This record gives sequence, C-alpha cells and structure tokens, in this order.
Amino acid sequence: MNVLVINAGSSSLKYQLFDMTHETVLAKGKVERIGMETAMLTHEPAGKQEIREVSEILDHTAAIRKVLRILVHPKEGVLESMEQVHAVGHRVVHGGETFSGSVRVDEEVKREIKRLFDLAPLHNPGALTGILAVEANLPDVPQVAVFDTAFHQTMPPKAFLYPIPGVFYRKHRVRRYGFHGTSHQYVSGRAAELIGRPLSELKMISCHIGNGASVTAILHGRSYDTSMGMTPLEGLMMGTRSGDIDPAIVPFAMDKEDLSLNEVNSMLNKHSGLFAVSGGLGDMREIVEAAEQGDRNAKLAFDMYEYRLRKYIGAYAAAMNGFDALVFTAGVGENSALLRKTVCDNLTFFGVKLDEAANARPGGGDRRISADDSAIGVWVVPTNEELMIARDTFEASRAALQPST
Ligand code: ADP
Repeated sequence: MNVLVINAGSSSLKYQLFDMTHETVLAKGKVERIGMETAMLTHEPAGKQEIREVSEILDHTAAIRKVLRILVHPKEGVLESMEQVHAVGHRVVHGGETFSGSVRVDEEVKREIKRLFDLAPLHNPGALTGILAVEANLPDVPQVAVFDTAFHQTMPPKAFLYPIPGVFYRKHRVRRYGFHGTSHQYVSGRAAELIGRPLSELKMISCHIGNGASVTAILHGRSYDTSMGMTPLEGLMMGTRSGDIDPAIVPFAMDKEDLSLNEVNSMLNKHSGLFAVSGGLGDMREIVEAAEQGDRNAKLAFDMYEYRLRKYIGAYAAAMNGFDALVFTAGVGENSALLRKTVCDNLTFFGVKLDEAANARPGGGDRRISADDSAIGVWVVPTNEELMIARDTFEASRAALQPST
C-alpha cells in the first residue's frame, strides 16, 4: 500500500510518498510559492535525479495536481497511475482537545479543524486547504489527519492548565496543548526500541530542538508535560521565538514602544530568540561559528539557549521524580555535538556521563552517546514525522481499503 504524506502551509506544500510494505520512501519533494507565477516544484524520486520546475501554480488544488502528475510521469515518476496512491495523510498542527489521536477525515473533522483556526491561525488554514485540494483531485481516496497536539492530550490538568481565571479555559479553550507531538512520540518509541525495554516502563525527556524547539516529559510512554503551550511560542528559547518571558513584558513593551498587538506578536515570534540576542543570526551553525571567532553576542545567545534547555530538563526530571533516558532530535539536537556536550556536562548531578567520542562522531542515524556507566542513557534519534504520519494513515485507512468479507 502506498501512502502520500502532505504537510501543507499557507504558500507551500511538502510531500513524501511511502510504500508501506517496507516503509520505503518512493519520492519526496515540495511546491513553494503557491499562488505565484514563479511557483517551484522540487521533486526527488528515489534513486533518480532531483528535478526542479518553475511554473505558475495558482492554488493548492493545482499544486496537488502537479505533484500527482509528476508521481505518475513516465520518466520522473514512481507510480504507474494515480490509483496507486491508496491513502493520504496530512500533518495538522492543532487538534485542540477534540483529537487525541489520528482520524479519518470526514465532514465533521474538516469542520473541527476549521473551528480551531483561531488557536492556530498560521497553520490550520494551510492544512485544511491541503485536505480540500487532495479531495478535489482524489475524491475516493481515504485521507487521515495527524495532529501535532494529539500526543500531548494525556497531560494531567495540573500540567495543562494555566493559573488564570477559569473563564479563559471554559470560554476560550486557553490551556497548554503542546506541539511537535508526532516527533516526541516517534523518537521516544524509537529510543525505547534501542534501549530494549518497553516504553511503558521508562521515564524519558525528549528534546526536539530545531528552528522551533520543545521538550517533553514522557512518563511511561505518555506525554506528562511539555514546554510549548497554547501556542508554539512558550517554553524554550528558539531561533526567532522568545520562549518563556514574564507576561507583563507584553503590556509594558506595548506601552513604552507604542506597539500594536500584531507588532508585539511579531516581535516575540519573529524577532526574538537566538536572532535577537546574537544580533541577527538565527541559525545555530552561524551562532557557533561566530562564537568561536570571539563574537560575544553569539556566545551569549548560545549560553542562554543551552541554559534554558537545561533548566527544562531539570524541571522535568523533578516532575517525573527522575528519568531513565534523554533524547535529542531535530536540526540542532541531531547535529550540534557542542550543544549536547554542554547540556550533558552540566547534568552530571543526575548521573549523566557522556561518551565524548560517540557524541563528537559525525554522521546521522540513531545512536547512544552516553558512556556505558552513565546512570541515564543519552540518545540521538533523528526524527521522522513523515514516517509516523504514514504509519498512522496506513492504520487508520486500512479498514476502508480492505474488501469487505
Ligand atoms: P524546523 O524546525 O524548521 O523543522 P530543523 O529541525 O530542520 O528545523 O532545524 C533547523 C536548525 O537546525 C537550523 O536553524 C540550524 O540552526 C540547526 N542545525 C542544522 N545543522 C546544524 C549543525 N551541524 N550544527 C548546529 N546546528 C545545526
């Protein structure tokens, strides 16, 4: 069975086509600048050369059509016909309190994703557009929605509620939802396999640190607490997001700098974090390079980023009364040996002992980076949200695809 995974944003769309027999990727790619004359399709069929095509793509429906055409193209394609796309899985950022797992898309699910627009105004509209665009092109193919928030629906009220008047929760659904759930779930499951013990017996802390970043306390396989909140702004310091700050800074900044709501929102989401502290660098590679060359602001940005991450790890160790494993994933977590080393060298109190050589060894793949006698296992597990979406889509649509007996 082949599953097409779609991650649709407001003007872009990423895709990956899986053959679920062996969970292999047949092709992947993206369409950027949807809605413009210079839209670009980048298509990477497995084992063949990547191709790029610039053309006018007016909307998501046209973008999906373009993707399907290239998937069945006699030369660049990987399928013989569109009937070989058996199911489509979508990444949907916000599932609110309605979705604690992946679901087959129907009218009610679409309505609910729409109802959640005000909680994720930048993300959910793109996902719904993607769903409608697939429906327009492949009306009979089952579609499945996989939510970034779903994994965190197991958090207890003491972790998900904010200590503010209850009306905000009851009337406006203000609470911690958490994000990157698909990634935290994937890497914790994979780490348990590598450890060789059931997830249900383990206490884990997973650090998804890329451009966006979050930490999750995973108690016996279930999300117990996570650093992102009602929106993906809370928690860790990120590439351009502030993460935790005193909320009183918001009205104060609005007053002193005469900022509008939109401006203060943009300041905290797009002009803060590593970018603000380093004086214009948002990428961890550039920060580390600049710091090594003596740039003090870059060094401060790195130190703050690492310190804030380490404080969360400490907090979650306390939240779960200890932990067995620490997992690093996403762009920074998978690639920055320096960040991992700095964090781990300051967690010796917990019995964390790094295997310096294993940590410094370049190259991807799942790996243990703690010493044999470390009390806590430290792991690098490259995330694979697309595979997780494909698996959920396969499971949720299998019943619909099997001939009834
Ligand atoms: P996104 O949240 O957009 O999916 P990624 O998980 O791809 O982001 O992470 C992107 C970030 O990973 C970049 O901002 C970059 O700082 C960081 N990164 C990638 N490679 C390295 C590296 N070798 N060393 C340090 N940071 C890296």
